[in-house]
Amino acid sequence: MYKEIVGFIRAAFQQPEGFIALHEPKFLGNEKKYLVDAIDSTYVSSVGQYVNRFEEQMKQITGASHVVAVVNGTCALHLALLLAGVEPGEEVITQPLTFVATVNAIKHANASPHFVDVDKDTLGLSPEKLRIQLAAVAQVKDGKCFNKITGRRIAACVPMHSFGFPLRIDEVIEICSQYHIPVVEDSTESLGASYKGRATGTFGSLGTFSFNGNKTVTSGAGGAIITNDEVLGKRAKHLSTTAKLPHAWEFVHDEVGYNYRMPNLNAALACAQLEQLESYIRNKRSLAAEYRSFFKERGIPFVDEIAGASANYWLCTILLKDRADRDAFLEYVNGRQVMCRPAWTLMTKLDMFKNDVAGDLTNASWLEDRIVNIPSSVRPPL
Ligand SMILES: *Cc1c(COP(=O)(O)O)cnc(C)c1O
Repeated sequence: MYKEIVGFIRAAFQQPEGFIALHEPKFLGNEKKYLVDAIDSTYVSSVGQYVNRFEEQMKQITGASHVVAVVNGTCALHLALLLAGVEPGEEVITQPLTFVATVNAIKHANASPHFVDVDKDTLGLSPEKLRIQLAAVAQVKDGKCFNKITGRRIAACVPMHSFGFPLRIDEVIEICSQYHIPVVEDSTESLGASYKGRATGTFGSLGTFSFNGNKTVTSGAGGAIITNDEVLGKRAKHLSTTAKLPHAWEFVHDEVGYNYRMPNLNAALACAQLEQLESYIRNKRSLAAEYRSFFKERGIPFVDEIAGASANYWLCTILLKDRADRDAFLEYVNGRQVMCRPAWTLMTKLDMFKNDVAGDLTNASWLEDRIVNIPSSVRPPL
């Protein structure tokens, strides 16, 4: 069976031999043109027309009214948490099945993660488990939510759309609003994905994106914060640009700010990539369709978008029988230059987070043993 899978992947990528990456960037449009233009303009740092243009393109793509370009997805999350009102010593709910950056950002805000389980079908934060966990530990006082066991305020919730599969974000928002918990949507992996007709990232008070080299489209390194709240949008821009007050020549800063703005060079790359986002996603969805029928015929679960969701299929995902099957498969395919990866080790197992609060994580543990991401790059021609 493993041999047959390798054969299918090689045929799908028309690469009978050599290395097949899990996800490699493709530069098929105006990338070089815009980069040269940015260099010629001399505006290579954090001021320049491409940064503004990138923000306008992101508004178009997501439908958000405010977009702020930043240096990477981790900084986007850090800033979004501060903007959501997270203070040192508070608690932030997130899922244990995520990339470490989600939880690092919580720690960067000097807060503590509080882990709640994911759903087996979406791989993202489970509304049902969230409801159970909050019913057990949460108490609302004066419009604020507290964890009655730790005594800390639950200051935010960060659901994450794993591998570009939208989670049940509307239900998460509904529950969080009952408990007065702001939602920061970690949509770093789900650019171009939507749920019930709305772009992921626009459901929460703030949403975040990453344009790292391994994501659906890339700016080399880059990120974005989106929001429909004008006050938060303006504050995001202010805090990401050293909190400098506008003035023709004076340097006056009104709070401790961050040097988080995306450089024009990176934005030039991002603008060219965003122009191709739609065709990339169409391309990735056709690969997903091929994988779906192949794995279905062989009784191997292929992770699919749930009803109402449109995934970007950033990383196509299968579920193997158990951890032994997963490990044997990874050994086999990686040994044959077909790059496949397991899910991240659960955050609750990492030394930095193992003592943090966690609810029942049955689904996350089950998935951790079985998830395998398979090669998912865009296949030219578009
Ligand atoms: C990629 C990613 C990030 C961070 O993005 P960077 O641009 O690499 O800092 C955060 N959260 C998740 C879930 C990611 O996949």
